Amino acid sequence: MKKIIIAIDGYAGCGKSTTAKGVAKALGYIFIDTGAMYRAVTYYFITHQIPIKEPSEEILNQIQLRFQKVEGQPQIFLNEMPVYQWIRTKMVNEYVSQVSALKAVRRHLVAQQQLMGQEKGIVMDGRDIGTVVFPNAELKIFMQASLEARVKRRHSELLKLNIDMTEEEIRLNLIERDYQDTHREEGPLKKANDAIVIDTSNLTIEEQIQQVLNLAYEKIRS
Ligand code: C5P
Repeated sequence: MKKIIIAIDGYAGCGKSTTAKGVAKALGYIFIDTGAMYRAVTYYFITHQIPIKEPSEEILNQIQLRFQKVEGQPQIFLNEMPVYQWIRTKMVNEYVSQVSALKAVRRHLVAQQQLMGQEKGIVMDGRDIGTVVFPNAELKIFMQASLEARVKRRHSELLKLNIDMTEEEIRLNLIERDYQDTHREEGPLKKANDAIVIDTSNLTIEEQIQQVLNLAYEKIRS
């Protein structure tokens, strides 16, 4: 069967990764959460006290990222360390959009993401997937949802990870990250002209997955 690339972009907390994961599972595709890659790089900057300014090639080359399944879920490893428990903390949330705005960081990660999609059969979620990473993706989705729906969703996700952030802290962080992500020079978050908008405010995760799957099947059959 024909394999396609599915790019899912949108604001923080719309359920992009959960949807992408479900779609990938149903299609037997690879799932890549690019937010986890930017978060892992941010974690590296914080733990190695690297100033948030354009990093040298040498620094970037010290950061090795890969995904490996842990209990059936693809998780990110940084220099062979399982950091997926540490990349969703308040500290990383606070700095990730600043690190992600650095051009050298973006170019480094975009190149890796493009390699991951060479064989197609991939669902990738992020902010610039349909615009920069895979401008020729067969299916592009742009997800949006009301701020309140996104705060509630993020709050329950963080509770499951035992990360203690109040709804107000989450709300401020989402607003701040969305602002920075949409206003940066390189790879800003914006809807690709040919992306299909899905508003997830009133959808369950199952409904979100099904909507994307229906669109994917149309593309695969065409
Ligand atoms: O998707 P998630 O909320 O985990 O992403 C964390 C941050 O990583 C975003 O707020 C954004 O600053 C950055 N990011 C990005 N480009 C992507 C994916 C994530 O700049 N493709």
